[in-house]
Amino acid sequence: MMHRMFVLYLLTFSLPALARQEDSLQIRAIADEILEHGRAYENLRVLTKQVGARLSGSAGMYKAEAWGKKTLEQDGADKVWLQECKVPHWVRGGKDEAYIAATRKINLDILALGNSMGTGPKGIKAPVILINSFDELELRKDEVKGKIVFYNYKFNNKLVKTFAAYADAGKYRSQGPSRAAKYGAVAVLVRSMSNAADNNPHTGGMNYNDSFPKIPAAAVGLRDANILAQLITDKRDVSVYLKTLAKMLPDTIGHNVIGELKGSEFPDQIITIGGHLDSWDPAEGAHDDGAGCVQSIEVLRALKAIGYKPKRTIRIVLFANEENGLRGGTKYAEEAKAKGEQHYFALESDAGGFTPRGFGFTVSDEQLTKIRQWLPLFTPYGVFELSQGGGGADIGPLNRTLKTPLAGLQPDSQRYFDIHHARNDVFEAVNKRELELGAINMAALIYLVDKYGL
Ligand SMILES: [Zn+2]
Repeated sequence: MMHRMFVLYLLTFSLPALARQEDSLQIRAIADEILEHGRAYENLRVLTKQVGARLSGSAGMYKAEAWGKKTLEQDGADKVWLQECKVPHWVRGGKDEAYIAATRKINLDILALGNSMGTGPKGIKAPVILINSFDELELRKDEVKGKIVFYNYKFNNKLVKTFAAYADAGKYRSQGPSRAAKYGAVAVLVRSMSNAADNNPHTGGMNYNDSFPKIPAAAVGLRDANILAQLITDKRDVSVYLKTLAKMLPDTIGHNVIGELKGSEFPDQIITIGGHLDSWDPAEGAHDDGAGCVQSIEVLRALKAIGYKPKRTIRIVLFANEENGLRGGTKYAEEAKAKGEQHYFALESDAGGFTPRGFGFTVSDEQLTKIRQWLPLFTPYGVFELSQGGGGADIGPLNRTLKTPLAGLQPDSQRYFDIHHARNDVFEAVNKRELELGAINMAALIYLVDKYGL
């Protein structure tokens, strides 16, 4: 018969008690380092205020690459380099304009969708058809010709995790324009992918289906979307004037910015930690994804500062072009495969710099069981959930091509879509302590994966 205390011990602690104590002290040291001497917030200030917006192909992108290289060097990477990739070069081309052409002109706050084609300098004026879903579009396809399709699909407010609402609504932005063009629409307006209380429009990437005309498309702020929907519902014939000057220029050269700490025991096993360096043009890309970039750099800095010597190679990657092409993440995985690199694990932070709540994983069930044994080491720092399902757009290709296990930081998501891809995603919207807590939990996870393996 097993001793009762031993059974209790097995149930309570899956790591030997001494190891647990040592790990708890190491993670405490990481936390103290970041909370007292953290660089993430100051790095974010420089990235957002001195570099600013950094969409692929823009001057900001090149400034951001230089910032990334310098910051990784300053914060302790052994080696820093740029990995070249082709990136799309979409430009907004000027100020987007729209108004409801009624007796009293009503301005609409809009932003052209990324990758969309503009109306040209004269703009277009056309009657608007209100469409609440793709099912409704199919039912009313004969009424669409010559009109502006206004997709008013709402965020599902019943979903507590807001990323689920975003995933649900996102198809109207990405596929909506071509699905409307198929039936002869001349332009598309989309209700912003948000449940914010303000009227800021939220842009984001869209993709044309080459089989149909490439019609202009823009996102509308939520209050203006409600006004437009109400006017149409009141059975008035409503026309809208829309002017966007967007265009797609030829592909240009961009870079993933990479910094490394060489592993001491298994240098060929690479652990990637990253966020994306590009951001939409109307804002500073503070939460999306400046936060993920500076947190990733902070993981490297803090591990080095406490004197931790990683067994495996720790690689920080500031990915190019997540927002409108994913070319950086794709290139990184392609080159990893071509060079026969061993990608042991990858972690991304691309869900905002808010208070961390958990990590989502794309790992085997056995690996998740092992990871969950570490939960008591995270809870003092605010992570309470280690669940299956998660990763990040930029590290997704590593999993698809090399089966690399993935994780994504999951911060509190309630405020993320208030600022996501909108002009209020600025430095001031990020809280220093919340940002740092994210970095602490990321560093703790990397420390544990490096030390114990998966
Ligand atoms: Zn992002």
